[in-house]
Amino acid sequence: MSELLASLGLEPVVNAVGPATRLGSSTPGPHVLAAMAEAAGAFVRMHELQAAAGAEIAAICGAEAGYVTNGAAGGLMLAAAACIAGDDPALMDRLPDASGARDEIVIHRGQRIAYDHALRAAGARLVEIGFHDLTFPRELDAAIGERTAAVAYLSNSGANAIPLEQVVAIAHRRGVPVILDASLAVPPVANLRRFAALGVDLVAVSGGKWIGGPAASGFLYGRADLIRSVALQHQDQDVRMETWHGAPLVAEGIVPGPPHQGIGRALKVGKEEIAGLLAALRAWVARDHDADRARWTADCETVVAALDGIDGVRAEVLPADGRERGWPVAEIALDERALGRTAYDVVRELAAGTPSIALDEALAWRGLLRVTPTQLQAGEAEVVATSLAASLRQREAAAAIDTEDRKDWTA
Ligand SMILES: *Cc1c(COP(=O)(O)O)cnc(C)c1O
Repeated sequence: MSELLASLGLEPVVNAVGPATRLGSSTPGPHVLAAMAEAAGAFVRMHELQAAAGAEIAAICGAEAGYVTNGAAGGLMLAAAACIAGDDPALMDRLPDASGARDEIVIHRGQRIAYDHALRAAGARLVEIGFHDLTFPRELDAAIGERTAAVAYLSNSGANAIPLEQVVAIAHRRGVPVILDASLAVPPVANLRRFAALGVDLVAVSGGKWIGGPAASGFLYGRADLIRSVALQHQDQDVRMETWHGAPLVAEGIVPGPPHQGIGRALKVGKEEIAGLLAALRAWVARDHDADRARWTADCETVVAALDGIDGVRAEVLPADGRERGWPVAEIALDERALGRTAYDVVRELAAGTPSIALDEALAWRGLLRVTPTQLQAGEAEVVATSLAASLRQREAAAAIDTEDRKDWTA
């Protein structure tokens, strides 16, 4: 990679942000790359590959069915399309025009995030419930009606949302499926089966984040009929009735015939991504996650130790907790006034350095920086620690020079 980057005039970045798409997501291991290379060398009927991969995903997650998508965002868009169109090929052909159909997706106002564009892109209209900090179960019940296609839920959105268990219970009582964005909920690996056991109808997971699959991979799992709708709207439908592999669906009266290329056709998943995602998922569920957490914690401690005793800086390791965040982070609180610089200044300075370091700036507006250790390569925690310490000691260094200058001048 370094050679390729150099030929383009680029340098690799030290990623202290985590599996951010804008930095390239993850560094898939040799087992993933080998699976992708193998898939690249043969043709296969893609619906059969998806069915086989989906069956294994379902077994891993304890669900009825599974499906490989291009990222969790692609999965969310397909999930919305499935909940809107069901088994109706005419409606599949029409999306994202869902006018007159069940096209509403109910969502907590406090769970609105930029990724819900994926739901809207399928043709859904979002119906918000609650306020940023408080939502009552009765509001969910009241928002569900004739036009409701699904309830969307974001995992790990804090204590101010209706608990997922209760959302599932209310939605199911009204005959409406629940779509869960679980991108931030794995690790821990146990959550995969927990969500299936809770009866969530479609769960979207990112393959390119903590699982270490190809950046453009992810998966859905859940109810078999909804996954069937996903497949019909996602797979290539340049097919003829006479030879279509979906003939049994016609015979059983589930669909009157194939849809045309659906809304998901623009979210193509190659055989290489399917193979890579599956290899990554197999290895990830069998991985020693305690060892990962121990290494990540040590990396966080390296950063915190380097910042010890710097005026205006307070750093600590926030340990992984089982449910809200499955990995530790080093959190660095800046007294911006004492330091004479903001957290954003520090982010910009480290980005401009050599090597270029990317820090988590999500809380920089509050003067907080975070180092997420999950994507750091060997030796990079030291690089981040040294660069951060140098950047944050500038005020001390400047003050020292200042005093020395004055001493010289008065002497
Ligand atoms: C990253 C992310 C997604 C999208 O995942 P991709 O695999 O990159 O498509 C969706 N939702 C949340 C909350 C995310 O953090």
